[in-house]
Amino acid sequence: MNALERSIPTGPLARRRTRQVLVGKVAVGGQAPVVVQSMTNTDTADVIGTARQVAQLARAGSEIVRVTVNTREAAAAVPKIREQLLKMNLEVPLVGDFHFNGHKLLEEVPACAEALDKLRINPGNVGKGKKRDEQFARLIEIACRCNKPVRIGVNWGSLDQDLLARIMDENARRPVPQDATALMREAMISSALESAARAEELGLPGNAIVLSCKVSGVQDLIGIYRELAGRSDYPLHLGLTEAGMGSKGIVASSAALAVLLQEGIGDTIRVSLTPEPDGERSREVVVAQEILQTMGLRAFTPLVAACPGCGRTTSTTFQELAQDIQSYVRERMPVWRLDHVGVENMSLAVMGCVVNGPGESKHADIGISLPGTGEIPVAPVYVDGERSVTLKGDNIAAEFRAIIDDYVLRKYPRRATE
Ligand code: SF4
Repeated sequence: MNALERSIPTGPLARRRTRQVLVGKVAVGGQAPVVVQSMTNTDTADVIGTARQVAQLARAGSEIVRVTVNTREAAAAVPKIREQLLKMNLEVPLVGDFHFNGHKLLEEVPACAEALDKLRINPGNVGKGKKRDEQFARLIEIACRCNKPVRIGVNWGSLDQDLLARIMDENARRPVPQDATALMREAMISSALESAARAEELGLPGNAIVLSCKVSGVQDLIGIYRELAGRSDYPLHLGLTEAGMGSKGIVASSAALAVLLQEGIGDTIRVSLTPEPDGERSREVVVAQEILQTMGLRAFTPLVAACPGCGRTTSTTFQELAQDIQSYVRERMPVWRLDHVGVENMSLAVMGCVVNGPGESKHADIGISLPGTGEIPVAPVYVDGERSVTLKGDNIAAEFRAIIDDYVLRKYPRRATE
């Protein structure tokens, strides 16, 4: 057992899902590692643009990618997107996101369901009144016929209004009615569980169902998922919906997901970040990976520890070096990952002066302390806790990168080739 496995939480609910769902070749639930997923924001009818973005997300580390399927053109594009991905040698599982017209699209374009690895259905958005049950059943029948798993994804913004009305009526008859927050949470959980039970009645196997109940409030999400985890055994897709942009989105998602993951709740995660204008869609993948890695649940890419800087550092040199090294490691990882076993566990430190720098550097596999104000302009490097070389001059970044390359070659064994 390695250090990462030892640090996996062991609370009463830890990894308690006994059901496991296969999405393509990716296992979700059971004892499988928590899976990172993401969603495109291209027009799915744009085959090349969507395939490119799926590839970008997959190469960033997304293990499952979801695409919107909202029109006949989008449904017809899905098999072509799959073809494009295969041409790029990418086998990432694709999930189709369906709403009001999902049953029609899947019936009219049978190749769409065939090309997908999972269907996502929102029970609040499959139809209204009597049509709701009939259209939900048609979607589940297609999933059964094509042998595809389904995520029953409840969302607070589109909660089944009939179900909410029923729960409010029941509440009104109680001697001590519950408050609005409790009702909302109960309505979401009931929508997920009742839909899953109906899907099983219609023939969908229990090990082909994933549940989610997404809200945008951190405390609501934590409360709902704790309850959901206690009342069901389906794998859970975890994510804060409409998390927002930039630091707000990252902090809100991290706060909510970390609490639940620490309790063993959540089998696959998505971080719903709003991209900055011209920002990369794959940012959400990096954040999801960093949540899991900083919690010690999985390792994806070497992380660079860096000090925040203070009055002892008057230049931006060490900030630039920290950014340079983190970018370099991310760039190199697709090749390193293929060639070297365990390289994702490597730890690096870039520190701004010799006060805390050497100590922190010694704790990393490779660390460097840049000179602070008034210090001799040299940068000692530590490898495996021992002082190695001292760098100076204008080429410190390039020389430090070369030290990292050399360490990867020496320390992480080459994978056996088939
Ligand atoms: S390591 Fe040095 S520069 Fe960095 S925060 Fe600590 S004292 Fe300041």
